[in-house]
Amino acid sequence: MNNWIVIKFGGTSVSGSDQWQQILSIIDKHHKSGYKVMLVHSAFSGLTNALELLLTGDEKQMSFIHNRVFDMANLFSINHEIVNQALNKLNTLTAHKNINPHQEAGILSWGEWVTHEICVEYLKRSININSFDPTQVLIASTTDKRNKRSQVLSAKCDVTHNQSLNEQLSQNLYMMPGFVAKDSDGNSVVLGRGGSDTSAAYIASLLNAHKLEIWTDVHGIFSANPRANPNARLLLHLAYQEAREIAASGGAVLHPRCILPLEQGNIPLHIKNTQSPNSPGTVLSHDYQATKPMVYAINTRHQVTLVSLESINMWHQAGFLGDMFNIFKSLGLSVDLISTSQTNVTLSLDKADNSIDDEILQQLSTRLKQMGTVEVIKNCSAVTLVGYRIRAMADKIAPVISTFADQRIYITTQSSNDLNQTFVVDEDQADKLGRALHEVLIPKDDTVANFGPSWQQLQQQKDKQAPPIIPWWHTASDKLLTIASNQSPCYVYDLETITTQVNKLQSLTAVDKIHYACKANSHPEILQHIHDLGVSMETVSPQEIERVTACCGESTKENILFTPNFAPKQEYIDAIDQGILVTIDNPYILYQWAEIFADQEVMLRLDPGHGSGHHRYVRTAGEQSKFGIPANELDAISVQCKKHNIKVKGLHAHSGSGILDHENWKRIVDYLGSCLPLFPTATVLNIGGGLGIKENPGDTGLDFEAFNKILEDFKSQHPNINIWIEPGRFIVAHSGVLLAKVTQTKWKGQQGYIGLDTGMNSLIRPALYGAWHNIANLSKLSKRAEYTANIVGPMCETGDILGIDRKMPKTEEGDVILIANTGAYGSSMSSNYNLRAPAKNIIL
Ligand SMILES: *Cc1c(COP(=O)(O)O)cnc(C)c1O
Repeated sequence: MNNWIVIKFGGTSVSGSDQWQQILSIIDKHHKSGYKVMLVHSAFSGLTNALELLLTGDEKQMSFIHNRVFDMANLFSINHEIVNQALNKLNTLTAHKNINPHQEAGILSWGEWVTHEICVEYLKRSININSFDPTQVLIASTTDKRNKRSQVLSAKCDVTHNQSLNEQLSQNLYMMPGFVAKDSDGNSVVLGRGGSDTSAAYIASLLNAHKLEIWTDVHGIFSANPRANPNARLLLHLAYQEAREIAASGGAVLHPRCILPLEQGNIPLHIKNTQSPNSPGTVLSHDYQATKPMVYAINTRHQVTLVSLESINMWHQAGFLGDMFNIFKSLGLSVDLISTSQTNVTLSLDKADNSIDDEILQQLSTRLKQMGTVEVIKNCSAVTLVGYRIRAMADKIAPVISTFADQRIYITTQSSNDLNQTFVVDEDQADKLGRALHEVLIPKDDTVANFGPSWQQLQQQKDKQAPPIIPWWHTASDKLLTIASNQSPCYVYDLETITTQVNKLQSLTAVDKIHYACKANSHPEILQHIHDLGVSMETVSPQEIERVTACCGESTKENILFTPNFAPKQEYIDAIDQGILVTIDNPYILYQWAEIFADQEVMLRLDPGHGSGHHRYVRTAGEQSKFGIPANELDAISVQCKKHNIKVKGLHAHSGSGILDHENWKRIVDYLGSCLPLFPTATVLNIGGGLGIKENPGDTGLDFEAFNKILEDFKSQHPNINIWIEPGRFIVAHSGVLLAKVTQTKWKGQQGYIGLDTGMNSLIRPALYGAWHNIANLSKLSKRAEYTANIVGPMCETGDILGIDRKMPKTEEGDVILIANTGAYGSSMSSNYNLRAPAKNIIL
């Protein structure tokens, strides 16, 4: 045997004995095919994070690290002596006063080394495995021109095939930690976060391996971000260069840096899914260079800031652009996209590689103003097409772009290699534009070999094992038709669905207390039902407090949260008088009205910096949102609270609504956790609501297990902190449907319209947020769809639309139309606009 396969596994894959059985069977398969195997692994999950926090001075991480490694030693029945020695070493490493970057690298890589020792020891019992120390051969480049920290903490190595290494490694199976390397003087360096992929690429190149397999928890690289577009297709084959373009344009599956050494060594890369080992995955190699024009992927990067400079002086003026770029350079800002005309230059700053704050933008504006008129446009997104000879596809792209003519497309750029084209638009338009381009540019059939199954198809395959979930209103359709016949328009609610949702929340072992955000739906019977299930209440106005106490009893007050925003002073005084816990979300209150809160317990709502959610208007964090205390004021506020004996019971953050990505809460607990040292009296983190539900076709729903694990991990590091949540939508959305009768139908050219007896006065979410609700003709539930129509209301307003281009069966006057998932923010946001009464509420 003299040919290598390198396989790489991440932290979660090496943290359990079942996972190791799978890894052993993969090794066995490669051995049987005649290959030697080099296994590259990361640190046990959670360790590198804890080490990073330890380096920021968070001493409590040490006990987490102790527990984590002893747990793993016990799981794998490893002698504690190994762990004790490793921990002694960590103590020595962290004992230094002023830690330099090399020492920092030494501490960060400790997690990989201890994982390595434990796993080698464990595997030796069942297989002949040899430990390999990669720092013998992974040596940081001496020609790196970046600053010292980058050279040490995000090191790059020069690698080429090394024949003598091949001879030295005469056994069939080796195992090495990723991430770690040395510099030419023998000091520790590391390859940056996600650097284990790069380690694996380097070693594959040194060994001139047959291939590299990176095993992860996704299927591979897709033609779009599946979260924004469930029709995204798995890309089966890619050339390295295209994969690099995709990685750089926001399609993050791989660390972009790991591609280059493979490309140079001509080593194929297979991305494989650990949970679905027989799925095809994505293969990168030189063999897949396209020969005809084609788009592979459409990616979106959010949080792009545009700077536009208008000046007639740039005409024929030598050095104008040079002077302009010098200003960016002197502020340390790297420019991403540029477009120029005779009198205007517009360029983009990408948040990913710039630290952009208001102060920097202010300095930039001030200096650029000397050259012309400056405009800064924040909250943009870049939509990038990646493919081959994209210009040749203009006939397909142009019509899509022209339908966006009423939106601004700020910049269009095309790379000179014709491998990408980018459009910069407002953030809330980006996903829509991305989907529209995907629809016309990505093939839907199997005539082009590169495209595999869609994400939705892969998801459905997975879901097939689970029983189909039939919505409650399907089973209750007869009853609903009777109700609608004389009560339309009306909302109808199923309390059992609320119970199911609350039970799901109660299964989160890491959550100590659940509050229901009443504003989602404050119907008295619904409040009572939720209260009876043992849930507390979160309110945002005195009227909500009154409603809650009227429905659920005066005694609920001690568990009510009051979270007002820009409310008058008297509301705070009244709440404190009633003994209700108040959340303060503006420094103004603590300075101007401190006397109200002296000797009282309060919660502080912090702004974690960047909001999330399904629409710009529901993101409730970040500087574009009016909520929360900004980070730079916290030191002063901590002093002010001490001065007036204001007891901070806990910290709060609520970053948006309809969030399906569990990582959002990791950012929140990490941020709030990092603020805890300023408020030593705090015993609670309220991480807000915003838990998303399955709403759009293809939504996966929030991964509860992963969500709970994030919170459990946090609590194991902060054993004295209680975690609270305050969801609204999650509890009630699925429980309600809006029923309305068809009034009239209309055809305008190709466009059908179905008119209902209620519209935006009952349900404003589609008009306000572009929200998508499933719409069914309840009178014809078993009939086939025959045409597409816009479902509209009777209001004098163009935005009075409940659904666009819906596939409907033949629909007639008097049919009952059902708009699903309207239990949250439906009735509670309704109005009397046009003096039309909104739909009434009926509990089943
Ligand atoms: C609206 C709101 C919630 C609930 O949000 P959902 O998206 O309905 O879960 C929670 N906390 C605060 C402070 C809110 O304003």
